[in-house]
Amino acid sequence: MVRGRQTVLWLQAGSCGGCTMAFLDRLSPDLKAAGLSLLWHPSLSEQTGEEVVAVLDGVIQGRTALDILCIEGAILRGPDGTGLFNRFSGTGKTMLEWVRLLSPLASYTVAVGACAAYGGVAAGDPDPTDAAGLQFEKAALGGALGKNYRSRAGLPVVNVAGCAPHPGWIMETLMALASGQMAPEDLDQLGRPKFFADHLAHHGCARNEFYEFKASAEHLSHGGCLMEHLGCKATQAVGDCNERGWNGDGSCTKGGFPCVACTSPGFEDSINYLATPKIAGIPVGLPLDMPKAWFVALAALSKSATPKRVRANAAADHVVFPPKRTRDSSE
Ligand code: SF4
Repeated sequence: MVRGRQTVLWLQAGSCGGCTMAFLDRLSPDLKAAGLSLLWHPSLSEQTGEEVVAVLDGVIQGRTALDILCIEGAILRGPDGTGLFNRFSGTGKTMLEWVRLLSPLASYTVAVGACAAYGGVAAGDPDPTDAAGLQFEKAALGGALGKNYRSRAGLPVVNVAGCAPHPGWIMETLMALASGQMAPEDLDQLGRPKFFADHLAHHGCARNEFYEFKASAEHLSHGGCLMEHLGCKATQAVGDCNERGWNGDGSCTKGGFPCVACTSPGFEDSINYLATPKIAGIPVGLPLDMPKAWFVALAALSKSATPKRVRANAAADHVVFPPKRTRDSSE
C-alpha cells in the first residue's frame, strides 16, 4: 500500500529543548524524503500565535489528520493536578489538557526524550511541579495519559528515551511509524523501540579492553574503564550509543564521561554521577545479566591477570605503555 506523507505535530512541554537540538542534528534524510510532513514545531515552523491555534483547531475539529504526535518534555501536572504550571501560551489551555485532547486523535504518540517518556530531570526529587512522562511515572506505568492509553493505530506511547536521545533514534522511529513498520512487539517493556533498546551502551565502548581486565580509571582524564570508580552505568543502560556514534563519531564514554543511564527511568535521581556506589567495595549496579557472584569471581580473576600495559594505561591520560610482543606471543 502506498502511504502519503504522514503528518507530525511536535509540542514542547516541560523541556530544556535538548531533544529538539538532537532532532536538528539528524543528518539524513530530510523530513520530506522520510515521508513526513510537519504540521507544526515550536522551533522549526514559521507559524506563531493565532496561526498555531488554527493548526491545533484543525486537528481537534477533524479537518487535519494527525498521524504522529511528538511530545518533548515532561508533563507538569501541578499544582493539584491542574497542569497550570505549564500553560501553552496563547491557547488558553495547559499542556496537560492539550496532550489529553490530541493523543486520542493521533495514529501514534511519541515521547521524545527521557522527560516525556518517564518524567526525566523535571521529575527529579522533590519534583515540585508533579512532573511525569506521558505513560510512565519513572518506571511505573501511568503518567499523564494512564496505563491503558493506546493510539489510534493501537500502540502505547513510543518512548524514544534518552537525555537527549540520539538523533537517529528519533528519526528512525518516525520513519518506522510513517511507513507502518512498528508494532507493539517492537517495543520493550518500558516502551522503547527495540532497534536501539536491544543494545547496551557498553557495547562498542573503546574502553572495553580495560573493562575486561577491570583496569580502571581513577580520574576522568584517564583512559581506563569508568565503571569501578567513576560511575559508568553503561553495562546496565540500553542504547547503541557506542555503536553508531553521536555527531558523526562521539559518545559519552569516548568523550571521557561515564554513562549516566539516561535511557533508563529514574536516572535523574543519582546523587553523584561521577562516583560508583559500592557496598563492601563491590559496585551496587552490576552488569544487567550477570549474577553478582559471577561478577565478583570474574573481576578477581581478571585483575589477577591484567597485563602490565593495560594496568598502566588505565590510570594515565595518554598511552604510557605501548603494546609489545612478549617472548611466547606469536604474530
Ligand atoms: S567505561 Fe563504561 S561503557 Fe566503557 S567499558 Fe567501562 S563500563 Fe563499559
